[in-house]
Amino acid sequence: MAVILRIDVDSPYGKKNLITHSFSRLASDFNLPPILMLPYLKYLNNFLKYLNNKSIQGYFFFRRCTLPTKELLKILRGEGHLIGLHLENSRSFDSFKNEIDIMQNSINAKVEVFSKHGSGKYKHGYYHYPAYEPDKYLQWGLNLGMKIFFGNLEIPTIPSSVINERLVFFPAAFWLEHHWRNTKLYDINWLIQESKTCDIVLLIHIENLISNRLFLSEFEQIIQNTKIKTI
Ligand SMILES: [Zn+2]
Repeated sequence: MAVILRIDVDSPYGKKNLITHSFSRLASDFNLPPILMLPYLKYLNNFLKYLNNKSIQGYFFFRRCTLPTKELLKILRGEGHLIGLHLENSRSFDSFKNEIDIMQNSINAKVEVFSKHGSGKYKHGYYHYPAYEPDKYLQWGLNLGMKIFFGNLEIPTIPSSVINERLVFFPAAFWLEHHWRNTKLYDINWLIQESKTCDIVLLIHIENLISNRLFLSEFEQIIQNTKIKTI
């Protein structure tokens, strides 16, 4: 039993300062291609180095505006990370399949894991369909032979299940950011203890992690005190 690391790559340029934050928003809203002058996904590079030094593997979920570069793909694959789709346009099966196709063409490999972008309420980006409807995604995932879906509920005790003996479903995660977690009930010590007896998904957004000292120190604590695995 262990912690399963889920990394949603939401932002093309990170959020280190206002300028890169604005570029991220612009690129997402207008579906801009990566602009070579800007440090596209650079924050991800540094974070990967950190994980790789510690031989930790995670699931990385990319949006259509944060698709990994060839260089990043090489590092991700070389170090045993798993690459999935961070679903934005979940309006219909066709829009889901379209995003899977875009990703598969981009990374030149089959995509078998996915997570959903957004909290269910607000629209984040031009293609984003905010509603959160996991039952639909599970059915669509089964149709396309997907292996794992990571859901967005915030109570980390909700157990995983296997749908139709084929698709592993993690309905909830332990969100590192405090505003999405009941930090009184589920603090870092809870996670350290609980992950000894069951698998818990830890959800992080690197751009939030690296701009917040508290989140960073909590992440370090988790890394040092738990086993981290992929399934
Ligand atoms: Zn997201």
